[in-house]
Amino acid sequence: NKEVVVVGAGLAGSEAAYQLAKRGIKVKLYEMKKIKKTEAHKSDDFAELVCSNSLGADNLANASGLMKEELRRLGSLVIKSADNNRVPAGQALAVDRDGFSQEITSTLRKMENIEIIEEELIEIPEDKIVLIASGPLTSEALSKKIGELTHSDYLYFYDAAAPIVTLESINMDIAYRQSRYGKGEGEYINCPMDKEQYYAFYNALITAERAPLKAFEEEKIFDACMPVERIAMTGEKTLVFGPLKPKGLINPKTDKMDYAVVQLRQDDKEGKLYNIVGFQTNLKWGEQKRVFSMIPGLENAEFIRYGVMHRNTFINSTQLLDETLKLKTKDNIYFAGQITGSEGYVSSVATGMMAAINIAHRLEEKSSFILDDRSAIGAMVKYITEEKKNFQPMGPNFGIIRSLDERIRDKKERYNKISNIALEYLDTKLDEIK
Ligand code: FAD
Repeated sequence: NKEVVVVGAGLAGSEAAYQLAKRGIKVKLYEMKKIKKTEAHKSDDFAELVCSNSLGADNLANASGLMKEELRRLGSLVIKSADNNRVPAGQALAVDRDGFSQEITSTLRKMENIEIIEEELIEIPEDKIVLIASGPLTSEALSKKIGELTHSDYLYFYDAAAPIVTLESINMDIAYRQSRYGKGEGEYINCPMDKEQYYAFYNALITAERAPLKAFEEEKIFDACMPVERIAMTGEKTLVFGPLKPKGLINPKTDKMDYAVVQLRQDDKEGKLYNIVGFQTNLKWGEQKRVFSMIPGLENAEFIRYGVMHRNTFINSTQLLDETLKLKTKDNIYFAGQITGSEGYVSSVATGMMAAINIAHRLEEKSSFILDDRSAIGAMVKYITEEKKNFQPMGPNFGIIRSLDERIRDKKERYNKISNIALEYLDTKLDEIK
C-alpha cells in the first residue's frame, strides 16, 4: 500500500509531501489551518513563515547557507520557491512571504498524487505510514496522542532557551574553567565581572528591547523559566545572588572571588558549543548580541543560537527516533520538522526532506538514504537522533558539522572549506536518490 499520511503542511510537511508525490507515492496531506489556526499562524496557505521572512544566510561561509545549497541539490521545493520569491536582504535569503507560501500551496494542490484534507488530524492511523510534521505548535489533541505514543516524559513544552556560543569564540584570556566549590572537573567556563562591569551590563540588560510576546506566551512566562532580564528587573542585585553568583569560584588570574560571574556550560558532545547558564531570554536577537557581548570574555562571541521564548512542542528524538527519523518503537510512524528538535525554517525543511526520501526508499525497497556529518543535513539528523543528555533543539551550525583535519585560522576560509567538502560529499550521494 503505497500511501502515506503527512500531518501538517508547514515547512517540513510541504517538502515531505512534494518529495513523496514526486516519487509516485500517494499522499494524504492533513492541514488544519483553514478551520483551526495555531496561536502563530495567520494565513490559509501552506509553509507559512510565522515570524521572520528570512530563511537565514545564503552563503557557504554559513552553515544555514550550506544547508540551503544541499537542499537545492536534493531538489527541494521549499528552497526553490524561496529562490523564486527572493527579496533584497544582503547575504540572507529573505522572501516575499505571501508569494513564497502561495507558490508552494499551488504546486502541492496541483500534484495528482496529493490529496489535501483540510482537517485537524486527531487519531494517528495504525494501518498506514504516517509522517508527523505538525510543528512546534502542534494541536492539543494531537500533542496528547503523541504524548501517549512516546510516553509523555519525552514530550516537552518549553518556553525559554538560553543562547549558545562557540567555544572558539570565547576569549579564554579573560574567561577560565572551574566548577563551583572545586566540585567536578572544571566543566564550566566562567566569565568574571568586576562591580563596574556588572552595573554596565545590568543597566544594558534591563533597558534592552524585548520581543513582543503573544498572550499565550505571556501566560506561560511565570512558570518555571523566568527570562534573565525579568529576573534582573526584580532588583539590581538579584542576579548577583542568582544566576551570576560568584560564590565558590576563585578567579585563577587574581586568586580572588569576582563581583559576579556568568557561567557557560557545554552543550554538545564534542564540546564545541556552550550555553550561557540561566540566560533564557526574550530580548530581540540583535539586542542579545549587543548586551551579552558586554560580558567579559564574550566580546567576540559567535552566537549560533539566540535565546528564544515561545511554546515549543518537541519530542526527545535522541531517544525515540532512528536515523531515518522513524519512531524506534513503531514501524509506521515518522517525525519531521521542528517537532523533532531540528530548529528553524531550513532545518525543518531538511528533516522533512530526509524523512520523505527514507519513507519512499522503504516503499520502493531501496536502502536507507543516510548522510553523514560532513554535510549540514547529515549533521543535523545525527545531532537529533544520537543519544545525549539535556537535548535541546538545534539549528544549522558548524559546531555540529565534522571539523577539518587541518587547522585553518581564518574562520571564513575554514567554513568555506568545510562547505566545499560537504557539497563534494553530497554530490557523490546523489546517485542513490535517482
Ligand atoms: P510549521 O511550519 O509550524 O507547520 C506545522 C503545520 O501543522 C501548521 O501549518 C499547523 O497548522 C499544522 N498542524 C498542527 N497540528 C495539526 C493537526 N493536528 N492536524 C493538522 N494540521 C496540524 N524559525 C525561524 O527560522 N525563524 C523565525 O523567525 C521563527 N520564529 C518563530 C516564531 C514562533 C512564535 C514560533 C512558534 C516558531 C518560530 N520559528 C522560527 C520556528 C518555526 O516554527 C519553525 O522554524 C518552522 O515553522 C517549523 O516548521 P514545521 O514544518 O516543523 O512546523
